[in-house]
Amino acid sequence: MEKTQEILLIKYGEIALRGGNRRIYENMLLDAIRKNLNRAGAEGFSMYREQGRFVVEGQGLSALLPHITCIFGITSVCRGIRLSERSLDAIHACALEYTQNHLSDSTTFKVTTKRADKNFPKPSNEISADLGAHLLTHIPTLKVKLENPDFNLIVEIRNSIYIYSQTTEVQGPGGLPPGSAGKGVLLLSGGIDSPVAGYLAAKRGIGITAIYFHSPPYTSERAKDKVLDIAKQLAHHTGKIKLLVVNFTEIQLYLTDKTPSAKITLLLKRTMLKMADMTAQNEKALALITGDAVGQVASQTLHSLHAMTGATNMPIIRPLATYDKKDIVSLAQKIGTFDISIRPFDDCCTLFLPKNPETKPKLSIIQNIERKMDDLEQMLATALLQAEIYEF
Ligand code: ATP
Ligand code: MG
Repeated sequence: MEKTQEILLIKYGEIALRGGNRRIYENMLLDAIRKNLNRAGAEGFSMYREQGRFVVEGQGLSALLPHITCIFGITSVCRGIRLSERSLDAIHACALEYTQNHLSDSTTFKVTTKRADKNFPKPSNEISADLGAHLLTHIPTLKVKLENPDFNLIVEIRNSIYIYSQTTEVQGPGGLPPGSAGKGVLLLSGGIDSPVAGYLAAKRGIGITAIYFHSPPYTSERAKDKVLDIAKQLAHHTGKIKLLVVNFTEIQLYLTDKTPSAKITLLLKRTMLKMADMTAQNEKALALITGDAVGQVASQTLHSLHAMTGATNMPIIRPLATYDKKDIVSLAQKIGTFDISIRPFDDCCTLFLPKNPETKPKLSIIQNIERKMDDLEQMLATALLQAEIYEF
């Protein structure tokens, strides 16, 4: 029997479009996969690049799968074999054995050949037809079906030859490799929304630095622990997260003292954006990310979002702007942050929530109030300098 090696064949999507930068993007993706596998304690595997694919070989491949299929940039992963020989005879022999091992008795099938190496001495459709005939001869219970067969056997001819069944395919999340788009500062509260916003931003390749505004003793240590746990869980998807925990108490009391109660939430949020902006400059990040969804609460009406204007000149990415709450919740469940987010510890905004928050604030009035806060800028700088820093 021909020698074969069990493999995972990793497919990735959009990086293929990126011309000259392709190699850099591929390296970022390889790096993210390696880090995830190391983090999961995986050993004894090797991984290499193969003409638009990555290949993983080694022991216990099934256990590696979930640590690969969660990485942004990956569209799918298939399980199959690599042939040690490059010949039609080897394809026939190995494909027959693979099919016998992976089939139940009577099944419809087809063969699909992808020939990336055009020097291989037969066109794809002829390889598929010959192999199909060979399989039919040796497994008489098989029936050919070209549309939606039970068993789509795929032969990929690249530097090596790979054989796998479409049925082994596990979908990845798609998107772009972690960090490939540059960095963003995520305003991460303990709520349901902001982790999902971070997840979606990271899906488009944005590397995450997170900032959490903590107001002890009004917010408890357990509220902070909750945010740390959320960041840790989020990092499984986004890659490394640096988290700054800023002590916001003094600033919050100062703002509350100087602001009419109906407007306090807006002032707090503008101040958070200012500090996130300062952090972005320190971290060389290019955007801010929040969990705002239009109309969800008083502070997220379109008027309220408009009243954030000028708090920062950075682009603000609001991935959830158009989402319904139930869709945010199901994403939060999917990425594993929901159960942490619903632990019952208040965040700083809810504690200082006015009875009748304004839903149609005016930007000019807000800016007038801010103009009178002479000490604020210095307070923000000091609080940032004293931030606790965590890495996940
Ligand atoms: P979330 O579920 O993300 O907490 P929310 O529905 O509670 O959002 P708001 O309290 O209006 O809505 O917050 C809107 C956004 O402002 C949050 O998604 C987050 O990005 C940011 N934010 C609010 N509070 C904090 C905080 N304490 N620390 C960091 N960011 C915050
Ligand atoms: Mg919240």
